[in-house]
Amino acid sequence: MSEQATAVTTELVRYLAAHTAREDDFLVALKTAAAEAGIPPISIAPEQGTMLQILLRSHQARTVLEIGTLAGYSAITMARALPEDGHLHTMEINDAHADFAQSWIKRSDVANRITIHRANAVELVKTFTDNSIDAAFIDADKSPSMLYLEAAKRIVKPGGLILIDNAFAYGQLLDENPSRNKDDVWAIQRFNDHMAADDSLTSVILPTGDGMWIALNAPAR
Ligand code: MG
Repeated sequence: MSEQATAVTTELVRYLAAHTAREDDFLVALKTAAAEAGIPPISIAPEQGTMLQILLRSHQARTVLEIGTLAGYSAITMARALPEDGHLHTMEINDAHADFAQSWIKRSDVANRITIHRANAVELVKTFTDNSIDAAFIDADKSPSMLYLEAAKRIVKPGGLILIDNAFAYGQLLDENPSRNKDDVWAIQRFNDHMAADDSLTSVILPTGDGMWIALNAPAR
């Protein structure tokens, strides 16, 4: 840790959350309904939502590719940061999750800006053309993370945004013997090492939520 860095304690994370993001009633209701429907409570944190919106708006992104829809929380959040004619493509392999997300997206204020693609993302990303999208958000199953990253690097325009959730591996990143989701944790550990060594990206992990990689699809200067 550099001398300038402050350790990110639980108290500081709570403070950060309390002093930044606010969810609206719609997103709060979506999360409650998702929990009742048995969807895992692993949507992005509200402060991550705000961070994504700031990044997309400052980048003037018009098109987003999301891998991993889950309940639709992040899709709706990100679509709100796009212009009226912008569009977000989100991929979901689990039909129950896609059904739930579709019903909430339909009722949201950004229904016309979101398309859910129901398929295996590893296959579906192949149908997107090179340099065609402004930003990608990867938040899906962890074992194919490197395949998703390579697809994002091809599909996202040079200098575009590539954002990847769960850099802290559900809080178990530094555990040598993780107690939960071992395979996911190990996949994330390998993925993080890969990201850190990837000179074709300019990237940083930000400690919001479960940690998020923020990368530009361009080498560091
Ligand atoms: Mg996640």
